This record gives sequence, C-alpha cells and structure tokens, in this order.
Amino acid sequence: AKQAGRGQFRFYDPSLNLTSIEEFQLEQAFGDGLRKHQFVLHYQPQVRLENMKVIGYEALVRWQHPEFGLIYPDRFIGIAERSGFIVPLGMEVLQLACRQLAQWRAQGSTVCMGINVSQLQLNQPGFSDKVLEVLEECGLEPGWIELEITETAIVDREGIALRQLAMLKAAGVSISLDDFGRGYAGFAHLQALPITKLKLDRSLIAPLSNSHDDSPIVSSTIILAKRMGLQVVAEGVETRGQVVSLKLAGCDIAQGYHFSRPVAAEDVPEFASGREVS
Ligand code: C2E
Ligand code: CA
Ligand code: CA
Ligand code: CA
Repeated sequence: AKQAGRGQFRFYDPSLNLTSIEEFQLEQAFGDGLRKHQFVLHYQPQVRLENMKVIGYEALVRWQHPEFGLIYPDRFIGIAERSGFIVPLGMEVLQLACRQLAQWRAQGSTVCMGINVSQLQLNQPGFSDKVLEVLEECGLEPGWIELEITETAIVDREGIALRQLAMLKAAGVSISLDDFGRGYAGFAHLQALPITKLKLDRSLIAPLSNSHDDSPIVSSTIILAKRMGLQVVAEGVETRGQVVSLKLAGCDIAQGYHFSRPVAAEDVPEFASGREVS
C-alpha cells in the first residue's frame, strides 16, 4: 500500500519530486543500515602547526550501502536530521569513535578524537549523561574527545543544548565550534558559549595563498579567537602555501587534504603519537 501511495502522491502533488521519493527510500533504509552496521567512520588527521605533529583525528561518518556503495554524509545527514534518525545514528557514531580511540590509546597513542554532534542530539535530555557513560565504558578521559557543534545547534541561549554542553565542558570534554565563518559569524555572542576551540570553515581558508597578509579576515579572526582563550583549527587546508600562511597568522591546528583525506581506520598510517608529517 505504501508503494502505491508513493506513486499516487507523485501524481497528485507535482511538488513531491524525485528527491522526496529518494529521501523516503533512504529513510526506510536507515534503520536497516544501523542494524546491519553499515555506517562506518573515516578519520582525518589534525596537525599541530608548531611542530607538525598529528594530535588528533576527526571522525566522519559514511554509509557503506550494499547496493549504492559508499554514501557520503552530505547525501544523508540532512535527511537524518529531518527524520530524527540522527539521534540513533549519532549514538552509533559516538560509540564507534570512542571504541576506535580506546584501541589507539591502548596501542600507546596520545591522539584525541573529534566527533560531530548535531542540534537534535544536543536537545535530547539524556545526551550529556550518555556521552560520559560511553567514555566511562571505553575507559577514556573526557579530555580525549572533542565534540564538534555548529552555531545553529546552540541558538537558544537558555535551552537544554547549551546546558548539556556547559556540563560536558565542565567535565573536561573539549567543545569546538565547527564551520565558523560559513554563515553569519558573530564574535559578540561567542564569549557566552561553552567552547574551547574555533574551527575556521574551509571557505575562509580556500582564498589563502602563502603570504601573511593575504587574508586580513583570517588573521584577525585568529587574533580575536586567541584573545578569547580559544584554540584555532583551520579546515580544508589543501596546499603547502596555506600551511605557511596559517602558521604565520598564528593558527594552532590544521586539517585538510594537504595532510590526508579522511581514511578508514585500517588505512591510518600509524597511531603512535609524534608522527611527523609535512
Ligand atoms: P564537516 O564537519 O565540516 O567536515 C569536514 C568535511 O570537509 C568532510 O566532508 C571532509 O571530508 C571535508 N574535507 C576535509 N578536508 C578537506 C579539504 O582539504 N578540502 C575539501 N574540499 N574538503 C575537505 P564529509 O566527510 O563529506 O562530511 C561532510 C559533513 O557531514 C561534515 O562537515 C559534517 O557536517 C557532516 N558529518 C560528517 N560526519 C558526521 C557525523 O558523524 N555526525 C554529524 N552530525 N554530522 C556529520
Ligand atoms: Ca566537523
Ligand atoms: Ca566544518
Ligand atoms: Ca559541518
């Protein structure tokens, strides 16, 4: 009946286009994917510019679909957010990332793990407790993980999302503000947020070449962030020139294809700390 209904909807409502139908099918497949462990994480290194050492990895989810192959998050995170599926998916990501980190730590690594968290997860009352519970289960210190949130996740100043973040930060978990500079980026209210790091969106990094002065916006953003006690991470770093420029501008950490694309755990070169990259 559902199948027939879908066809009929398409007939009677021309605004329900193929994308909506694709979305509907994806949603049906989500639950299946979770049960069959089709969601996997890839890891992209973050490099401290001072000594060019890998200090952590960001976990990025992919859907290893039996028919469609590897599906990237830009295709399904939005749908997962709209349907609420991001809540169980986010929990799976948290657990997978923490287990991987525990394994690397057990091998002697000192790396940290960045984990993306969406607004809907932060609005779940039990979220912060669950994070601490998973850390405990995996034998991880709170300071070894970093939750990456976006500005839209915390627009409501009084809300539960902000309270949970503040609680997690107080417990020692790092919190970074992702995609800074992508949309409206205001410094005024940054001060009120329970964050420890600022991640500069790659749209700010892309125009950088290799001279200190070529982006006054980037260099002054870095200065302001550091005056607020925040560490600065540059995303989407693709060239050696950008590395030089960011280093000159005082950026702490860089991440991007210049160092490595996100790769499966078995393709991460080594987990021992102090690996030198260039
Ligand atoms: P993001 O959090 O901003 O992650 C960075 C994205 O930029 C990743 O895309 C990464 O592969 C890509 N990237 C890294 N370095 C470079 C570079 O040098 N150049 C360019 N052009 N791109 C680079 P990816 O993995 O496709 O993820 C896209 C977005 O999906 C992420 O953006 C994040 O918002 C979301 N996402 C990924 N995993 C999760 C997750 O587990 N939970 C949630 N809620 N969202 C996730
Ligand atoms: Ca991120
Ligand atoms: Ca980002
Ligand atoms: Ca993002």
